[in-house]
Amino acid sequence: MTTEYTNYIDGAFTARSAATLEVTNPATGALLARIPDSDAAAVDAAVAAAKRAQPAWEKLPAIQRAGHLRKIAAKLREHRTELARIIVREQGKVQGLAQVEVDFTADYMDYMAEWARRLEGEVLTSDRPNETIFLLRKPVGVVAGILPWNFPFFLIARKLAPALVTGNTIVIKPSEETPINAYEFARLVAETDLPAGVFNLVGGRGATAGDALVSHPDVNLITFTGSVATGSRIMQTAGKNLTRVNLELGGKAPAIVLADADLDLAAKAIYDSRVINTGQVCNCAERVYVERSVHDAFVERLTALFKATRYGDPSVDADLHMGPLVNQIGLEKVEALVEQAKRDGANVVTGGKRADLGQGFHYEPTLITGARAEMDIMRKEIFGPVLPIQAVDSLDEAIALANDSDFGLTSSIFTRNINSAMQAVRELRFGETYVNREHFEAMQGFHAGRKKSGIGGADGKHGLYEFTETHVVYLQTP
Ligand code: NAP
Repeated sequence: MTTEYTNYIDGAFTARSAATLEVTNPATGALLARIPDSDAAAVDAAVAAAKRAQPAWEKLPAIQRAGHLRKIAAKLREHRTELARIIVREQGKVQGLAQVEVDFTADYMDYMAEWARRLEGEVLTSDRPNETIFLLRKPVGVVAGILPWNFPFFLIARKLAPALVTGNTIVIKPSEETPINAYEFARLVAETDLPAGVFNLVGGRGATAGDALVSHPDVNLITFTGSVATGSRIMQTAGKNLTRVNLELGGKAPAIVLADADLDLAAKAIYDSRVINTGQVCNCAERVYVERSVHDAFVERLTALFKATRYGDPSVDADLHMGPLVNQIGLEKVEALVEQAKRDGANVVTGGKRADLGQGFHYEPTLITGARAEMDIMRKEIFGPVLPIQAVDSLDEAIALANDSDFGLTSSIFTRNINSAMQAVRELRFGETYVNREHFEAMQGFHAGRKKSGIGGADGKHGLYEFTETHVVYLQTP
């Protein structure tokens, strides 16, 4: 029997929605569940519940708010295996990575809870006698969290945990591709004593439910993770109410490999980065610039790794490097970019076509050499298991090519020379740079993109404070 989920609003699951959306398994096409195709009225009810709940939530001492986060984290750990299984089935992630996602999500809730005793304002000296200036940090009010499908479960925590610990309430809209894990999250939250209205979940399409949420006048902050196109649309919509936005968007991460690099380490790290989550990670290596003198040796290592990739249906095989792409659109986008690269004169070393597994959105792990800066494959986000490589003659050339991009999220460099590494750190125009490794980012860091990769950031102290606004008080005590 197919499960039909309902929205979670004001501490309760709602009645069934007349209109629903189907959720399918990208590895098989099997129907997994139905979710509400929510309209503006459902969104309105969720925002109203969040708005009602917010003042009392803000008044709770932060340490008590943190206690609620810890209870949710404990629930996630109790159900870690089944939650991972859900992510595997609806998103196509391999089992090991899905488990890491669930465990990291629980840890992230605990990490953000730790901030309860560290939320700080400032006390400033005044120009006037008998006056003290206080700079207080206060919650913004109601937060709207709009999620993508690639790390759907973790992204709930990345939005919810900092929002709640700082005293905000939240309405979350998951991606229509991967909403089941969010509804299961809500089911676990409902088993705790989190006050009604603090967390609300509304499923549906971006163009309807998402748009109703981001255009709602009672939303005070929109925190969005997704594509540049949607982020730009959301920013335009938010402009009407002057709602604050926090946008985590796409990437086209360059990896620079210098002649003095440990080539085994570089090849393995870049390969892992390219096939993890089937290449559908905002900060995985999307283009490589390798010094010409080691190009062939580097490509030889990568070719062996790409050819040994095990892929298939991650629900039935626990020992895979990658599963399917998330949907038909994703598959066609990857296919179109590779076909264009072939027409542009690049060489496909291995892969280069759909994988014929009889069902699902599978694409062969693909290594491309002879790429050039002007090719789409080096400029557009691929979001699939395809790695294009360009040979360069110097670090200066590699840095110039890396920076010549609309995106500015992640970059990496592989070298044994600290001077080269530090030159790259000084000159790369990206929100994050990894030296001698690829992603993932740390929860205590600050994940933020420049240029079209976003506005603002997430994680750590700086990410936390994006969920607050300042209030300055001038206190006269004559
Ligand atoms: P997407 O197509 O932009 O969708 C993201 C979310 O926005 C979905 O929930 C979508 O709804 C919703 N949406 C669509 N139109 C909307 C509108 N007009 N108003 C409000 N919401 C709307 O992105 P995606 O394909 O899910 O995710 C992949 C992208 O996310 C990639 O570009 C990747 O690089 C980026 N990403 C960035 C980061 C980062 O930290 N920078 C992390 C992960 C992913 P429905 O899909 O449900 O219709």
